[in-house]
Amino acid sequence: MSRIGGKNTAPELAVRKLLHAMGCRFRLHRRDLPGSPDIVLPAHAAVVFIHGCFWHAHEGCPKAKIPATRRAWWTAKLDANRRRDSRARRALRKLGWRVMVIWQCRIKPEERLKRRLARFLGCAQL
Ligand SMILES: [Zn+2]
Repeated sequence: MSRIGGKNTAPELAVRKLLHAMGCRFRLHRRDLPGSPDIVLPAHAAVVFIHGCFWHAHEGCPKAKIPATRRAWWTAKLDANRRRDSRARRALRKLGWRVMVIWQCRIKPEERLKRRLARFLGCAQL
């Protein structure tokens, strides 16, 4: 119910591939956690959301333009999505998780994403 934009999207698979290469163990789509994060790394007390720019209303992003038709409806819908995301992040932090959001438009270049993930997870091997 809390998922927007489907499971196992190309950006998700790209992130999972990187984490594998980094030797990080993770679980997918833990529904028992707020917002059912896309990736959960228990050893790092960390969760990762991979957000599609449109559905999660990436601020200032060209991929997150509100459609010209039914503008008010879309605005309300996407605002609600954004608020729900922020509630989930807050709830997760309260439970002691560290939270990272990866936007669809920031997946590439891979080198940059790898550096971000390594920094977030505290992996030295990269
Ligand atoms: Zn974006």
